[in-house]
Amino acid sequence: MSAYNIVGGVSATCPQCRAKVLVGVQFKFGATWQYRYVVGDALRWGGNDVGTPSRVRVVADGAADAPCPACGYASDWDFYVFIEHDHITGVREADGTYDFVRAGSAYLDLGDGSASPASG
Ligand SMILES: [Zn+2]
Repeated sequence: MSAYNIVGGVSATCPQCRAKVLVGVQFKFGATWQYRYVVGDALRWGGNDVGTPSRVRVVADGAADAPCPACGYASDWDFYVFIEHDHITGVREADGTYDFVRAGSAYLDLGDGSASPASG
């Protein structure tokens, strides 16, 4: 598998048992080498880069990096990792707003947030 990064300490609600838990969220944007970040950190660049630096607003496809600590749930548990000017500004649970599969990408460039991504 290719490398990814992790945002640690993300509070989330387990899709199965509804427990409020803290999880790590894997994503691919910036230099990808299993770097561990928290919300507010600046991304590193310069190795296995995914995407391009200094984008105004990006959302990256995220996934829980471990099973639910309360019930062991280990199926689909997706997140959005929001990045503005190379800083992680927030993580929230995926709700279908963004379609990474359709885009064929691990991230979507949201520009200034007023336009949908132009592609293909
Ligand atoms: Zn659970």
